[in-house]
Amino acid sequence: MLLPAPVLDIARTLEGAGFETWCVGGAVRDWWLGHADQDVDLATAATPEQVQALFPRTVAVGVKHGTVGVLDRDRRLHEVTTFRRDVSTDGRHAVVEFGGSIDEDLARRDFTINALAWHPFRQELRDPFAGAGDLAAGVVRAVGAPARRFEEDYLRILRMVRFAARFGFTIDPPTWEAAKASAPQLKSLSAERVREEWFKGLESARSVLELARAWREVGAARIWMPELPDAPQIAEPIVDRDPVVLTAALCHSAGGVLSRLKASNAEIARGQALSRGPAEPESAEAAVVRRWLARVGDAADDLMRLAEVRRGSPPVWAAAVERSRARGEATSRGQLALTGDDLRAGGVPPGPEMGRLLEKMLEAVLEDPARNTRETLLALVKSWR
Ligand code: ATP
Ligand code: MG
Repeated sequence: MLLPAPVLDIARTLEGAGFETWCVGGAVRDWWLGHADQDVDLATAATPEQVQALFPRTVAVGVKHGTVGVLDRDRRLHEVTTFRRDVSTDGRHAVVEFGGSIDEDLARRDFTINALAWHPFRQELRDPFAGAGDLAAGVVRAVGAPARRFEEDYLRILRMVRFAARFGFTIDPPTWEAAKASAPQLKSLSAERVREEWFKGLESARSVLELARAWREVGAARIWMPELPDAPQIAEPIVDRDPVVLTAALCHSAGGVLSRLKASNAEIARGQALSRGPAEPESAEAAVVRRWLARVGDAADDLMRLAEVRRGSPPVWAAAVERSRARGEATSRGQLALTGDDLRAGGVPPGPEMGRLLEKMLEAVLEDPARNTRETLLALVKSWR
C-alpha cells in the first residue's frame, strides 16, 4: 500500500514510541480493490492521551471513542484511533474500551471487507475474517454472527446495502437474512443517521436503482421511505449525484421523505418544489417554456436536473430555457420594466388591484418579451384601468 508521507511519518512516530500501528478501514479496502482515493485511518495501541503527547498539534476529534486528529505540516488532519473493544451496545450506541489488540479491533468492525488492516512497515496484511477473499468474490458478509452484529447497531443494515450497491457486490445469504429479520428495529435509529446513510448511498451507488431495490427488499423502505415505488423512473448510469434531486427521482413526495429524515429546511423546500412541479413545460416552444419558468420560479434548475436524471440526458426544452435566460427575458414580477413602486407613483393603490396589474403585465411579457419596456407596459396598464 502506497501511503502518503505524512501518514507514514505519524505511523513511524507511534511505532518508534513502542505502539503498534496499522492502517485500517475503508482506505485498506479501497486500495485492495484498486482505487486509493480516501484518507487513511490509523489504528494504534497508544491511548488518546499518549497520541496527544507524541504530536505537537492534535485535535480532539472524538477522544471518548478513541479518535485523535493529528495535524501534519500542511495542517491536514489524520485520524488516529486507539484499538477498541466493544463492552456493550444497544443497537444505537456502542460503549467501547481501549487497550485491545489489532485483532480485537478488527473483530468489532461490521463487514469482512471493512475488517482488513495493513501494517505500514512490515508490509503485512492482517485479514482474520477472510475479507480479501470476499473482496475478490464481491461479497458483503458480516464479521461474526450476523444477527448479533445487527442487534449491536442497526445502522449496519443500511451500511450493508450501501456497500453492496457501491461496489456491485452481492450479500452473503445469512447476512442478508439476519438484516431482513432485524430491519423492523431500524425505527429505533435517529433520522439523522438514516439520512446520512441514504445520502451517502445515493452519492456512491453504482446503480441507485439497485440501492433503492435493496432498501425495499431488506425492509428499510417500509419504515423510513414508504414513498419508494417498485419501479422508479430514472436512467442509469446516473448523470447527477445530488441527493435531493435523486430522492425526488426515486420517491413520490420527496418533501415528505426529506422532512421525515430531518434534512435541512433548504433541502426539504427543494424536495417539496420538485414534487410540486409542474415537472416540465408542455413543449419546448419559447412562450410555453417562459410560462413554465414563471410558474416554477427558483425550482427551475432542480427540475431541469430531475428531468435529466430521469432521461439520462438533458431534455430538449433545456436549450429553450438557456436561450430565454441568455436573452434576459423576464419570467417573474421582479424582472418587469415597470415595478410596483412605479404603479404606486402612477396612482395605483397598494392592494389587490396592484397585484392584478402586476400579474397581467407579467402575462403580457411572457407572451411577448418585447413588451417588457416602461413605455409599452405603461400603455398597457393605462388600457386596462
Ligand atoms: P467510506 O468509504 O464510506 O468512508 P468506510 O469503510 O471508510 O467507507 P467509515 O464509516 O468511514 O466507512 O468507517 C471506517 C471503518 O470503521 C469501516 O471500514 C469499518 O471498519 C468501521 N465502522 C464504521 N462504522 C461502523 C459500524 N457502524 N459498525 C462497525 N464498524 C464500523
Ligand atoms: Mg471512511
